[in-house]
Amino acid sequence: MDRFTVKVIAQTPNPQQVIYAAMHQDYAEHFVWDERDRFPDEAKCGDIIVKSLLAGNRGHYGPLEHPQIVLNCGWFPHSTMQQVRTHRVGVSFDVQSGRYTSQRILDVVEGKRNVEEVFYLRPLGEYSDRQGKHYAYTETQRQEDLEWCLAACHRYHQRIQQGLSEEHARGLVPFDIRQHWVMSANVRSLLHLLDLRWKADAQLEAQKLCELMWHPFAEWVPAIAAWYESNRLKKARLAP
Ligand SMILES: Cc1cc2nc3c(=O)[nH]c(=O)nc-3n(C[C@H](O)[C@H](O)[C@H](O)COP(=O)(O)OP(=O)(O)OC[C@H]3O[C@@H](n4cnc5c(N)ncnc54)[C@H](O)[C@@H]3O)c2cc1C
Repeated sequence: MDRFTVKVIAQTPNPQQVIYAAMHQDYAEHFVWDERDRFPDEAKCGDIIVKSLLAGNRGHYGPLEHPQIVLNCGWFPHSTMQQVRTHRVGVSFDVQSGRYTSQRILDVVEGKRNVEEVFYLRPLGEYSDRQGKHYAYTETQRQEDLEWCLAACHRYHQRIQQGLSEEHARGLVPFDIRQHWVMSANVRSLLHLLDLRWKADAQLEAQKLCELMWHPFAEWVPAIAAWYESNRLKKARLAP
């Protein structure tokens, strides 16, 4: 779907060993760092933490809060950014504010960029609203909406030329301007976000974001991902 992108900027190495070490310190008498050369390998640590922390919904999630992953999310509509930014605990964001940047909007006017590179419109197709009423988003409507976005770029360009600041003129642009952001999360907070934003009634673009975040996450902490996939993924088992 679309040009949405998620890339990993950085991630804690050996995350399952890190979780194991944290869990182990919960009950070990000794200083676990002294044993670091004798920790089970990454895969074995994965098995142990699934069995000891996750299986049977024990709720002992604290050790999952130590490893961090830093993701760069790109070309999502502003509305998706708003949705994921509501998750405050254990997640941090840096996102384009529109106070400093405007060149890509001006580029549309100057013919250097396509409107769809800068604004997101849903694909043509059949949709339903929150009351279950079905409707079609037609080619004619979508074309008109692209023209609307283009007209807004022209107005933005005009106001910038007249001396308005970017933070003033940004109020003129259509809501779903595309945005890039950097977000960091720990294993627990990312799973919580997936609980809420990957369920079937979540907004389409947020679901797509979750799908794209899932691939690097599953490579990073495979044992936890496998447990999550069979126990919670898309099952709308929501945290309080
Ligand atoms: C389908 C859907 C629709 C939504 N619609 C809207 C909307 O229209 N408008 C809108 O503004 N928001 C909306 N939200 C956002 C929602 O209200 C929450 O703000 C958002 O989901 C973040 O909550 P969280 O449980 O993920 O909290 P996080 O910030 O991710 O925190 C994780 C957990 O920590 C605990 N916690 C965090 N903060 C507190 C606190 N202050 N007090 C007590 N416990 C806390 C809770 O257990 C929480 O689940 C929507 C969310 C969803 C999933």
